[in-house]
Amino acid sequence: MSSSTAIETSHYFPEKVSLAMLPTPLQRLNYGEDIKPEIRLWCKRDDLTGSLLTGNKVRKLEYVVATAKHRGADTLVTCGGLQSNHCRATALVAAREGLQCRLILRGDPLEPKDGNFLLSDIAGADIYTYPASTYHRSLPSLLKEHESALKDTGRHPYIIPTGASDGVGIWGYLEAARELAEDFVRHSIKAPLVVCAAGSGGTLAGLACGLTLFAPEARVLGVAVCDNAAYFEKRLRDDIDQANQIFTQARLPMPSNFTIVDDYIGPGYAKGYPQLFSLIRGLAASDGIVLDPVYTAKAFWGLLSEQRLGKIGQRDIVFVHTGGVFGVFPFKDSF
Ligand SMILES: *Cc1c(COP(=O)(O)O)cnc(C)c1O
Repeated sequence: MSSSTAIETSHYFPEKVSLAMLPTPLQRLNYGEDIKPEIRLWCKRDDLTGSLLTGNKVRKLEYVVATAKHRGADTLVTCGGLQSNHCRATALVAAREGLQCRLILRGDPLEPKDGNFLLSDIAGADIYTYPASTYHRSLPSLLKEHESALKDTGRHPYIIPTGASDGVGIWGYLEAARELAEDFVRHSIKAPLVVCAAGSGGTLAGLACGLTLFAPEARVLGVAVCDNAAYFEKRLRDDIDQANQIFTQARLPMPSNFTIVDDYIGPGYAKGYPQLFSLIRGLAASDGIVLDPVYTAKAFWGLLSEQRLGKIGQRDIVFVHTGGVFGVFPFKDSF
């Protein structure tokens, strides 16, 4: 940490395993379509946390893996969609850390097995795929079954919830908020709006709570890509409560600096709409940055739309690019 800034850096953080390329750059964007000229648009490049480890999940996994190892685990078990960025990151991290990995995936046997799925497979994860109906109906019992099957063979599994969003994973974005606070000082950014996608909610929870601590003038806009605003508000409170229970020195505040919008989900989770694909092309052309149709393009589209509707008063808008590039390829026919 730099000591030349005015940022409060003494707050408690638990131990972590270093996995991500940090700090990530904060970059000024050229993109200007639909943006009022007085606005300065920035991108926090969390897609650069690693090449294969690209995205937000590796920040969470730094704390998750430390906790798993502390508890004597030898196998990481987690779940998600067939194209889950979180599952791909977990499979690669497990390999690097000498742990086994078991993935419980939701998918239809006809879906293309490329992108993230292919990478998880190459990384040696033990993959079990279930039809969406079974998965939605019985995920908690599926996880329990896999956990006891592993224990029966002498293994020590550690279950990571969807998206690593819980009281452990939240530290990854508490740390990102501390990093952003330093970026704001370095770039003379005052009272910005920080925008991120909300999928399992941990990124939003960590940013809102962390900015309350480290940059109290900032506000956060979470753009839901599934569920609804009430769901993410509850998730945020639950994750913070859990962090305060697990880590007795945490003393994390309940934030009031955030807004959640759920108007940009479109036809559903991981389902695109035409504006997303032209936006992805537009930002790639203006800045050489590629968004994904499941998370980051919906969040960026939300940012543009809210701004166009006059709902954003801030001069500085900081978009958190949470990764997802491997999720672009399964959508190749939509471009
Ligand atoms: C998981 C994910 C998100 C959402 O983050 P949550 O912490 O789950 O809300 C956003 N972008 C990408 C690329 C992701 O993989």
